[in-house]
Amino acid sequence: MPVALRARIVFPVDRPPIENGVVTFDGDRILAVGSTDTGIKPVDLGNVALLPGLVNAHTHLEFSHLRQPLGQPGIGIVDWIRLIIAERARGDKERTNPITLGQQETLAAGVTMVGDIVTNPAATSAASIDTTCFHEVIGFSRARAESSLNSLVERLQAAAAVSNTASSFAPVQGISPHAPYTVSPLLLRPLVTLAHRNNMPVAMHLAESREELQFLRNGDGPFKDLLEERSMWDAEAVPPGSTPHDYLRTLADAPWALVIHGNYLDEDELDFLGTHRDRMSLVYCPRTHAYFDHSPYPLATARKLGVRVALGTDSRASNPDLDLFAEMRHVSRAHQGIDPHETLRMGTLAGAEALGREAAVGSITPGKLANLVALPLGDAPHGSPDEMLAALLATNRAPTSVWLHGRAIGHDDPSPHL
Ligand SMILES: [Zn+2]
Repeated sequence: MPVALRARIVFPVDRPPIENGVVTFDGDRILAVGSTDTGIKPVDLGNVALLPGLVNAHTHLEFSHLRQPLGQPGIGIVDWIRLIIAERARGDKERTNPITLGQQETLAAGVTMVGDIVTNPAATSAASIDTTCFHEVIGFSRARAESSLNSLVERLQAAAAVSNTASSFAPVQGISPHAPYTVSPLLLRPLVTLAHRNNMPVAMHLAESREELQFLRNGDGPFKDLLEERSMWDAEAVPPGSTPHDYLRTLADAPWALVIHGNYLDEDELDFLGTHRDRMSLVYCPRTHAYFDHSPYPLATARKLGVRVALGTDSRASNPDLDLFAEMRHVSRAHQGIDPHETLRMGTLAGAEALGREAAVGSITPGKLANLVALPLGDAPHGSPDEMLAALLATNRAPTSVWLHGRAIGHDDPSPHL
């Protein structure tokens, strides 16, 4: 039976806000959005804003058990990676599956879709939210390229077998060449070809740190030390004088390419992303960016050059939680003059487009999945829709309700207020 929800204001994202808007859905699909009567008595949600479920375009749910980020604010990237390696090695068979914890936390924060980097193929079988699983690939030395590629093919085959089960949350599979200091150009090329052949998205950490730029340019610095420590170093793997631009050119051949971080992309590189926005996106992880000692994020330049910018939390190893709305609030605070509607789009539709899932999610649109989040407007004076959205992005409030595929989370009934 169809359900209609009325809210003080609805932000569909792909069309203007609707005051006293009504969203109607049947089963898992949205039927209508508007202010007119659809013939179904709406449940009045009261003084809330109704948004599409948020999209976290980049995370690593495998670290969701961490209570606080590793290291301390301002830690060097390579020292932080050493802590990540130690954390992975520690493991803990007793604890709840971190991916399950991460999905629960994600959903409670109003996020209904994630782009998750996975290292364990078993992780792909347990999705309880809309997920794109990017299988992480590491193989820096040229000698490792072939075995890394072969093991990815096996993992993708295993994941496809799991995905054939009839779960509505069967994850979409993708590929994640980890970063330029762990994946050589010799390996990156066939990974992108494989993605192209299988119509899969690709996500790569790129231009994240100054140390990475130094490594690409000169083949030295802390990343070389790390690779030598790990017996992964290969002096010929990366040609001297390389830049992130070289990697962008290769990634441009993927059906969808998510460039994760891009903290140090220069204007030419951002322009390249802008001119390839039909299939390339930049994923900004605002609070993770703030955790490290980075230069200011080039968001204004990216926007000026037409780059699609999505948002990610990254993991709890560099962020205190998985709250994408907190990332949106951070963007509003840290980037003066940004239009709040643009911030909302970054946390919803832009993420869906980056992942190639915009036909199903990212906006409140008839035919799309009924993924919705209600946020309380509080007692701030009600102004225009723009002022309401700005106020929403200035305050820290948890969702009052979340609907995933038309099902109210934490309630047995899809219309808990009836
Ligand atoms: Zn990451």
